[in-house]
Amino acid sequence: MGKVAMGATVVCAAAVCAAAALVVRHRMKSSGKWARALAILKEFEEKCGTPSSKLKQVVDAMTVEMHAGLASEGGSKLKMIISYVDNLPTGDEKGLFYALDLGGTNFRVLRVLLGGKESHVVKQEFEEVSIPPHLMTGFSDVGQDVVGELTKAMERIGLDMRVAALVNDTIGTLAGGRYNNPDVVAAVILGTGTNAAYVERAHAVPKWHGLLPKSGDMVINMEWGNFRSSHLPLTEYDQTLDAESLNPGEQIFEKMISGMYLGEIVRRVLCKMAEEAAIFGDTVPPKLKIPFILRTPHMSAIHHDMSPDLKVVGTKLKDVLEISNTSLKIRKVIVELCDIVATRGARLSAAGIVGILKKLGRDTVKDGEKQKSVVALDGGLYEHYAKFRTCMENTLRELLGEEVSENIVVEQSNDGSGIGAALLAASHSQYIEVEEP
Ligand code: ADP
Ligand code: MG
Repeated sequence: MGKVAMGATVVCAAAVCAAAALVVRHRMKSSGKWARALAILKEFEEKCGTPSSKLKQVVDAMTVEMHAGLASEGGSKLKMIISYVDNLPTGDEKGLFYALDLGGTNFRVLRVLLGGKESHVVKQEFEEVSIPPHLMTGFSDVGQDVVGELTKAMERIGLDMRVAALVNDTIGTLAGGRYNNPDVVAAVILGTGTNAAYVERAHAVPKWHGLLPKSGDMVINMEWGNFRSSHLPLTEYDQTLDAESLNPGEQIFEKMISGMYLGEIVRRVLCKMAEEAAIFGDTVPPKLKIPFILRTPHMSAIHHDMSPDLKVVGTKLKDVLEISNTSLKIRKVIVELCDIVATRGARLSAAGIVGILKKLGRDTVKDGEKQKSVVALDGGLYEHYAKFRTCMENTLRELLGEEVSENIVVEQSNDGSGIGAALLAASHSQYIEVEEP
């Protein structure tokens, strides 16, 4: 008995020793890997850095490119498209109008009853559906005139309707914003994609050779998503994202800012951490390798997780990427990663807005003048990603300073794209008197 017990003890002790050795070796190995994960995070954070000084260079580059794009066709990466909208809605518009808003993610139909000067928007209804993936990448009727196709489709089903205007969503938001507030000078979309439009003095558009419009104004669709500059804090992850995208070399600003890409940037950094620092174990979780699987709404849920054990982070990793049993410290790294990506995007979009204000000479206070400038913002990213929005607005104040900031207002303009499109349709068609159906 004694011997057996003795033997058993020895074996046990040996096993404990072996296990202890294993734990130590595992700790050494994992602490090396952990250090690698933190190094990847730190390097990424440094490369994404947007101190005020850098953002001011981005602001100046944006202003310079705006000038170049207005000077000549093809003069800049910024197309600075002349919209031919030289009159924004006045408030007199009357009648029943429909707007179809086709975005990158959602399709909306709006019906707006306009009552003219006194009553403005009398009634407004809307339906939203997300665009099915097979239609998003479909090829039918691509390259055809949208208005022609829409008119044919309406005739086919016997709808007695006429298309009055085809409007870019940014211009729509500007028009909608102006209708509510005459101080609106620019509109910015932060949604699946990003873009900006603003009201320029027609004589400040050298590439415009036509007659100067009566209003003296011309709305410019910047297509700012295509902005690029050596001052943009690009990382290796942005470069591979771009290279593997459907439009390499294009829309570089958009690829750092907009909802289509933010989650994908996070995924790419996580992939690198999984490969080089084995943060999710010895193999890279297969789902993590799928491009665009981690979407910006997931990222935003992770980023906003305030629970002490980061429960939402755990749930998202499990549901979206099929990664379970993550430690708290890994979850914290992931939240930090989301913060870095969102902060960079938000701060760059603020720099873009300041670039527009600077072009308009509205980035300073002249002789104590209190001229208000309102920027209308629309888009799902701005609407739903609170930390992004807050950071963007704080950065505007940081770049403009207290005194100027008092005169700059950012106005959320939900469904601004669609309402604005309906208003533009109204101001470009005969008034239609209708009974409210
Ligand atoms: P579009 O007009 O191009 O269809 P939207 O303005 O409707 O785009 O915005 C949709 C985009 O907003 C989504 O692609 C997504 O990136 C972003 N988004 C939607 N919900 C959230 C959310 N909860 N958190 C962060 N981003 C979101
Ligand atoms: Mg949209």
